[in-house]
Amino acid sequence: MPETFKAILVSRDAEKKQSVAMTDLTEADLMEGDVTVAVEATTVNYKDGLAISGKAPVIRRWPLVPGIDFAGTVISSSHADWRKGDKVILNGWGVGETHFGAYAERARVKGDWLVPLPQGMSPHDAMAIGTAGYTAMLCVIALERHGIVPDRGPVVVTGAAGGVGSVAVSILSSLGYHVIASTGRSAESPYLIDLGAAEVISRDELAQPAKPLAKERWAGGVDAVGSHTLANVLSMTSYGGAVAACGLAGGMDLPASVAPFILRGVCLLGIDSVMAPKAVRMEAWRRIGMDLDLQKLASLSTTIGFDGIIDAAHDIVEGKIRGRVVVDM
Ligand code: NDP
Repeated sequence: MPETFKAILVSRDAEKKQSVAMTDLTEADLMEGDVTVAVEATTVNYKDGLAISGKAPVIRRWPLVPGIDFAGTVISSSHADWRKGDKVILNGWGVGETHFGAYAERARVKGDWLVPLPQGMSPHDAMAIGTAGYTAMLCVIALERHGIVPDRGPVVVTGAAGGVGSVAVSILSSLGYHVIASTGRSAESPYLIDLGAAEVISRDELAQPAKPLAKERWAGGVDAVGSHTLANVLSMTSYGGAVAACGLAGGMDLPASVAPFILRGVCLLGIDSVMAPKAVRMEAWRRIGMDLDLQKLASLSTTIGFDGIIDAAHDIVEGKIRGRVVVDM
């Protein structure tokens, strides 16, 4: 009998009604790839919540094992870069969308998609960071490249108590920025201050339709929310500033004016983690190793077991999750 391992499988019936079940798979069920990994830790990102709840068409192959992030150990490889026993991380590349993903004890993927687990980091730590944290780092790097250094003035982080937001607040404050954290959960203010926020503002301040230009409040920002929030963040960005936009937790639209771009030279920096080239990923993970305080990382993450994934996926799309969720397999 082939060895089985546990997995979550999302299926669709003839009426396109989605269902989610815990199941047992064998390696023969896995999709094509040149590296097989024993998954040791994974996480629940907003996108995983959308996939499992069916709230957005994240899954584009049926049935599918969801889960866009994992860390673990190579158990077999025909890829030149990887040997049995190597510790690896996977973020994105369509895994958990079109390719069987992280919510199984085994994953088979393309070796080109993997990056090495940084020295001194455990699979658990890597998943406390996950796609959300690595995306936060991509945002910080984009702001730096645009010259938004701490001396330029405050930076705003929206969706601050969520995964991307918590890691962004933590990294930016460690780098010396004056961080203004925007949250809809005022009860999370002490948490955000502990992560390093200098000020906490209410999400409501940024939720109304934006004026073309408003009073300059910050030199830049990291936006995980989109819609009116991003429009307001742009209209409040000071001359020559920049905003890294990575999320849509508040909506996919952008009801903004061109005024910040053409009258203040503000730049909107688009951030994608899914298809980012390997060199960009390696740089982001190297910087995370340098700039993210592991103690803060522990304080912004909670740990669940495999059986808790489905509930956590529903909670994250309802905005009930604080920081990052790590799944220890
Ligand atoms: P989380 O759910 O952990 O965080 C999102 C946060 O946004 C919430 O915690 C909440 O913060 C805020 N929020 C939720 N709903 C609303 C709303 N209706 N209006 C305003 N604010 C809201 O998700 P993640 O941090 O994992 O992801 C954040 C976003 O970034 C998602 O849209 C995700 O898809 C996107 N993303 C994009 C990536 C890319 O490659 N571009 C990669 C990773 C994530 P608070 O309670 O503090 O207000």
